[in-house]
Amino acid sequence: IRYGISFVDVSTGEFFVSEVESEQRLLDEVFRFSPKEVLVPDAFPEEYPELAETLEAEGVSVQKGLSDYFSEENARLVLFRQFKAASYEALGLADYSCGRRSAGAALSYLLDTQKNDLSHINELHPYSDGTFCRLDGSTIRNLELFCTLRDKEKRGSLFWVLDRTKTAMGARLLKTLVERPLIKKDEIEERLDLVEAFKGKIMLREEIREYLGSIFDLERLIMKIAYRTVNPREMLSFKNSIAMVPGILSVLQDFEEEPVRTLRLSIDPLSDLCRQMGALLSDEPAATVHDGGIVREGFSTEVDELRSARTDGKKWLADLEAEERERTGIKSLKIKYNKVFGYYLEVTNANKNLVPEDYIRKQTMANAERYYTPRLKELEDKIMGAQERLVQVEYELFMHLVEDMAAQMERVQKTAKGLARLDVFCALAVVAEKYHYVRPAINEQGLIDIQGGRHPVVEKSSGGGNFVPNDTYLDEKENQISIITGPNMAGKSTYMRQCALIVLLAQMGSFVPAERADIGIVDRIFTRVGASDDLASGQSTFMVEMNEVANILRNATRHSLLILDEIGRGTGTFDGLSIAWAVLEYISDKKRMGAKTLFATHYHELTELEGILPGTKNYSILVRESGEDIVFLRKIVKGGTDKSYGIEVARLAGVPERVTKRAKEIANALYSQSSPLSIAMPLSGRKGKDARNREMERSQLSFVDTMSDDDIVRELQELDVGHITPIEAVNKLYDLHARAMNRC
Ligand code: ADP
Repeated sequence: IRYGISFVDVSTGEFFVSEVESEQRLLDEVFRFSPKEVLVPDAFPEEYPELAETLEAEGVSVQKGLSDYFSEENARLVLFRQFKAASYEALGLADYSCGRRSAGAALSYLLDTQKNDLSHINELHPYSDGTFCRLDGSTIRNLELFCTLRDKEKRGSLFWVLDRTKTAMGARLLKTLVERPLIKKDEIEERLDLVEAFKGKIMLREEIREYLGSIFDLERLIMKIAYRTVNPREMLSFKNSIAMVPGILSVLQDFEEEPVRTLRLSIDPLSDLCRQMGALLSDEPAATVHDGGIVREGFSTEVDELRSARTDGKKWLADLEAEERERTGIKSLKIKYNKVFGYYLEVTNANKNLVPEDYIRKQTMANAERYYTPRLKELEDKIMGAQERLVQVEYELFMHLVEDMAAQMERVQKTAKGLARLDVFCALAVVAEKYHYVRPAINEQGLIDIQGGRHPVVEKSSGGGNFVPNDTYLDEKENQISIITGPNMAGKSTYMRQCALIVLLAQMGSFVPAERADIGIVDRIFTRVGASDDLASGQSTFMVEMNEVANILRNATRHSLLILDEIGRGTGTFDGLSIAWAVLEYISDKKRMGAKTLFATHYHELTELEGILPGTKNYSILVRESGEDIVFLRKIVKGGTDKSYGIEVARLAGVPERVTKRAKEIANALYSQSSPLSIAMPLSGRKGKDARNREMERSQLSFVDTMSDDDIVRELQELDVGHITPIEAVNKLYDLHARAMNRC
């Protein structure tokens, strides 16, 4: 079964078409583009209730479309017309029989609901899985690409570090690049060349960025023009933005690099448009089309004449006022204007008796009387007529200009795209320079070799100097899986995310925070972070964890990168350890998967796997013990730890000493009576099922045997270890301890 899927951004005209093979992939794509609205066939909610529910739960509004929308005939009709094509080959949709039906439906829906001209939607981009490195929704969240897990803030995300763009178009494109890392080496190298070029020539780059800084969102403005909803002031911004383009192009002349040359050639200087707008628009046009003041003096004789009628009108009125004062002898007589009554002669009550016969009363005020005369009426008509006509003429000239610009939409869109690209790669060059990133080498042999790698966000937040760099080495043979042990807070998840982010940065075409990096292209990055770090809603955290694990095991390939943090933490120790173990076996199996994997765990028992499971290597994060305390060194080294240091971390966190001391005693008792190693054997080993079960039972029993008091044992058995908070755990421990002491 295949699913066709299309994404349209009406405001920018972007149109993507694809096809996927599973419901999960369908959801992944939807979450990646995060649309406001999803159009589905009539029968969709009945046929795929779970999908529909998930979409609704994520806040996507699901609309049912007419079934005609989704037909092959409709697709052919609307797509060929909209994109002026005569065949699906021309559109690149020959192999997208489902995709094009979704595209046809999306377009029909827009044509029916948008009432506006859709001529800006003039390009369609089919893409297949083979184009981008896929990141699913949970990876985007877990790696904190756009917002932090905890506060949903941009600050603290990868985007926060990278976004040094100067334009709205650049920021949008950057977001897309982060979401869709490339997987073709030459495309990646081309982007890296751009970053390198702009990193090398600082002065020229900064000059370009200064120009970019004055450019408004051309993509949105051209849309307003296309919809004829642009106002004169926005039109001026549009013109002023375009006016920056020739300056940028001339700076770009100084770059000899081929990709910069290609980029320069994709940008149209649009000088003719700028000239045309500059000739018509005044320097300070009003914000609405009906207030006049749009057209520059000297552009139209008619406008100039009507304007002078207005100025002359002022003089006529002043003359009439002087005349009337003379004639009536009323010194305080004034000609005034308001929007309701127009022009009138105002006479205070004290002078009312001097008013001549031919004055006609217009309005009575508390302390004055308002009049008009035939002569005043005549002047008023002349002046108001000129004003009305002026507004009308200016409006027509302006709309004419808008029409002309709308006709040039494609050129503007192309230039806007070029400028966005320029902005993004200048920004990445700024980041590379400011934070000392290096150009990664890119390989297709599946080797990930990072020396002195740093976490881009943690490094920036901690002020740079304090961050401890670390190496990573993964390949498809001896070093496929790194099992990373170390106490909580040692820096395991930071280390693993750093590796994923460096790979992602390299594949999006950015320099990377490392001393040296050689990055083997991966097809997908999967992350699974510890249950307690999740803000899961509804489902139990363990269920969420296992769902994610299931998804990863089903979808990862030999070319994927897996970041697995504390798999199995959400359940009891034995369960958790067993699940973690079995998952590792599955991943390591090259016939089944063989993905490169960083696997952090506090089950130091898993370090036994080195030597048993092919391609598995142990690493740990150094801590130094000083007396009862531990010091985090943040340095990753070869070899596993044989201790969890949980009690030491509890001490550091301020858990009362009575408790930590007692915990230590309990731990000693547990370890001496039941070696955890006794359960640490491959579940797919040579032993029969029964033998393995007995083995498990024995170790479980020996764990329980260490407690002498039945009540306490029962309580411990009933405890849902996977779902209690650290505070509850400490309280429980305290309580059990106190009762055990009482019994003694
Ligand atoms: P773990 O996953 O082992 O519990 P974390 O990765 O959450 O630990 O790291 C704990 C803290 O240590 C984080 O607050 C992080 O800022 C800091 N940290 C981690 N790695 C480094 C490093 N290499 N250099 C400096 N600080 C680090």
